[in-house]
Amino acid sequence: MKIEYSSIPDEIVHRTIQGECTKDDGIYLFNADPFELFALADSLRYESVGDDVTYIINRNINYTNQCMGTCGFCAFRNSNETGYMYTINEIVEKVKENTDLNLTEICIQGGLVPDISLDFCKEMIESIRSEVPDIHIHAFSPMEIYHISKINNISIKNTLKELKNSGLDSMPGTAAEILSDRVREKVCPDKLTTDEWVDVVKLAHGTGIPTTSTMMYGHLETIEERVDHILTIRDIQKETNGITEFVPLPFMLSNNPVGEQVKKEGRFGTTGIEDLKTHALARVLLHGYINNIQASWVKLGKKLAQIALYYGANDLGGTLIEENISKSAGASEGEYLSADEFKWLIKSAGKTPKQRDTLYKII
Ligand code: SF4
Repeated sequence: MKIEYSSIPDEIVHRTIQGECTKDDGIYLFNADPFELFALADSLRYESVGDDVTYIINRNINYTNQCMGTCGFCAFRNSNETGYMYTINEIVEKVKENTDLNLTEICIQGGLVPDISLDFCKEMIESIRSEVPDIHIHAFSPMEIYHISKINNISIKNTLKELKNSGLDSMPGTAAEILSDRVREKVCPDKLTTDEWVDVVKLAHGTGIPTTSTMMYGHLETIEERVDHILTIRDIQKETNGITEFVPLPFMLSNNPVGEQVKKEGRFGTTGIEDLKTHALARVLLHGYINNIQASWVKLGKKLAQIALYYGANDLGGTLIEENISKSAGASEGEYLSADEFKWLIKSAGKTPKQRDTLYKII
């Protein structure tokens, strides 16, 4: 069915369908009649992936909350001696705890430990690999890779190669926040810069390590910076084709200084309409390059994540089992969502549930 748009010019619709949406188009669409943006995003979702909605059975492990970082939006780090650090044995035991659930992925991230050794990271991966050989190991954000490389005085490329040789399968594209140095200076001044994040991700792809991609939005960035971020992700994908999905992550404002600043500006987080518009915008700008747009049930809540399936999203993420980072910043959900509940949520939205692996192969 051809949709008639009254507020979106034909040439923008045409460029979108061709995968050639420009920055100005993105800004225009974000400010257009939201229901027309939603209709456009939903039609592109259908064209790319049909009515299948995917989820993954995975488990999160945050191996440490010790961190020398200073991110102003973080409620997870513990910079004193009361922080925890799992041993390799504890990490392996956690991976083995849930084998009855048929986990296909283990997602491992932690804080920036001042003296972390590359050998510890390699041993962690090798130990998991030897105890649970078939599990997909999805670990270490671009910031962790950057940090490990600096602390151990080894190039980023060689750090990635060593980890891949140990059994690292893919990496989360987190620590991206907003890929604008103006905003990073305000919300995470000690984190790697936009160019450094892009470099780590491209080097990972060049080493044969695919990544996801993310955007934390709704804090101190402008809509223009949000569009720029998504287009930066699209540019990486054009060059490497190493990105599996894009995950828009609304900012959580509890227990962190950036949240206090946002509240002073009279905002109380993101709104539901803004969340849906951002997911729709991602679908539109990434059309033709990244097929999978995830609605994160941890950040959006189950009900809004389900609704986002009509606003550009086609994936609901993972079972997780243990999620600490969003919960500590005020997310109300995050412990565990069973495969049965995923299927129920997806079917009751009128879609077809499909279990996937990390690289979006249907299981
Ligand atoms: S977001 Fe990550 S790097 Fe930043 S302070 Fe928190 S744990 Fe550390």
